[in-house]
Amino acid sequence: MEDLYIVSRCLLGENCKYNGGNNLTPDVVQFYDTHRCVTVCPECRGGLPAPRPPAEIVRSAADGYRIVDRNGRDVTEAFLTGAALSWADVQEYAERNGCRIAGAVLKANSPSCGHGVIYDGTFSGRRIPGDGVFAAILRGQGIPVRTEEDLDAQKE
Ligand code: SF4
Repeated sequence: MEDLYIVSRCLLGENCKYNGGNNLTPDVVQFYDTHRCVTVCPECRGGLPAPRPPAEIVRSAADGYRIVDRNGRDVTEAFLTGAALSWADVQEYAERNGCRIAGAVLKANSPSCGHGVIYDGTFSGRRIPGDGVFAAILRGQGIPVRTEEDLDAQKE
């Protein structure tokens, strides 16, 4: 069974980032070119346009957490829906092609794709321990997640 990796689309140069640009990362492109991959953009899958206002995960004792954009709009539902649909897409692709989901390379710090560290919800650039909502699904499934910041293409 062939190993399959999940890759954030913005790291490959797709203009799906909140500001309408991308996060093209040559090491990730090299990884994509040398591994079987399926690409995702959970925020676009949740129906959010590009460009869109940046959003962060905001925690509170009362609500647990919400995802709020810089204009104060609650976009939690779009983020959670996009993450769930992206995970369903990946599973469907893996089943259809007889692949084993072996890992992911996702965009660091993002409220969807970030792994291990995310922004703290104050739009100040401060970072705290945590996962984006899509990365959290993968972690819950036991799928190893790396970001473009800790990708060592030589290891695979
Ligand atoms: S970080 Fe994830 S959700 Fe955000 S633009 Fe990149 S692929 Fe899409």
